[in-house]
Amino acid sequence: MNDFIAALPKAELHLHIEGSFEPELMFEIAQRNQIEIPYKTIDEVKKAYQFSCLQDFLDIYYAGAGVLIHEQDFYDLAMAYYQKCYENNVIHTEIMFDPQTHTERGIAFETVINGLQKARLEAKEKWGINSLFIMSYLRHLSEESAFETLKQSLPYKDLITSVGLDSSEMGNPPIKFKNVFEASVKEGYIPVAHAGEEGPTEYIWEAIDVLKVARIDHGNRCLEDENLVNEIVKRDLALTVCPLSNLELRNTDVMTNHPLKKLLDKGIKATVNSDDPAYFGGYMNANFVAVQEALNLSKEDILTLVKNSFNYSFATYEQKKIYLEKVYEVVNEFNS
Ligand SMILES: [Zn+2]
Repeated sequence: MNDFIAALPKAELHLHIEGSFEPELMFEIAQRNQIEIPYKTIDEVKKAYQFSCLQDFLDIYYAGAGVLIHEQDFYDLAMAYYQKCYENNVIHTEIMFDPQTHTERGIAFETVINGLQKARLEAKEKWGINSLFIMSYLRHLSEESAFETLKQSLPYKDLITSVGLDSSEMGNPPIKFKNVFEASVKEGYIPVAHAGEEGPTEYIWEAIDVLKVARIDHGNRCLEDENLVNEIVKRDLALTVCPLSNLELRNTDVMTNHPLKKLLDKGIKATVNSDDPAYFGGYMNANFVAVQEALNLSKEDILTLVKNSFNYSFATYEQKKIYLEKVYEVVNEFNS
């Protein structure tokens, strides 16, 4: 089963590039940029990565992001992630980035996007990996700040496919960003949003009815509302589920209670993703393996998840066809 998972080509639809920052690289860039971090050795950084609650996670997450200054730093960060994609057989990825995490501390929008774009082109050439960018607004900040970010993004509009909504969910409902999402859609960005990870089902309703998202990030808690489940199925909306993240942030107590199988059984188009892999203990294959073992998923379930990842990506129809052919080549190999 693990060989089957590793061999299958996959798409990742929920990944924060700042969350793929491995301790070694963080330490290296901090030294290069002569930035003081509260850790003296790589081991100390690694220890800090073993947080025990959401706030500890956010502390180290923002400390890490704080060492990213130059275009080269963003390039290095993204290349390290693409290398993992290559190792995990991720051939299509939709990368979220948080401009405000950087612009709020004086880094120019163009520094961030230029570094990411350079890596994207190189990953395509080196490993044939296709990727799209999702510009995510930080929901703990104001809608006005999101509008400012939208404005900054416009010269780079052709490089960005979608807008998202992330960071602390509780107390920051989707409706807070109604206007900026409308304006973003007018600019051609496809809307997605984190909803129902920690937040209540009302937030998922708002994400689909008010922000009119094309996909729901997490969405696990939809299972608490039968009408919502039916609506998600009816509207054919996919969920980007992140098993190891759910476990690490205690949204699932043990993996054997993870809702992924229930979501599939209800007819919801769920996908598997790594979220913030450097912090949550694993990239794509590790997520698949963990949830497969805990929920005893069949090969058929794995195949469904992988097909969903391509079908509900923002790739073109032609690209999707090519991807699915590649998936079936591997399936046939394993069946013969
Ligand atoms: Zn996320």
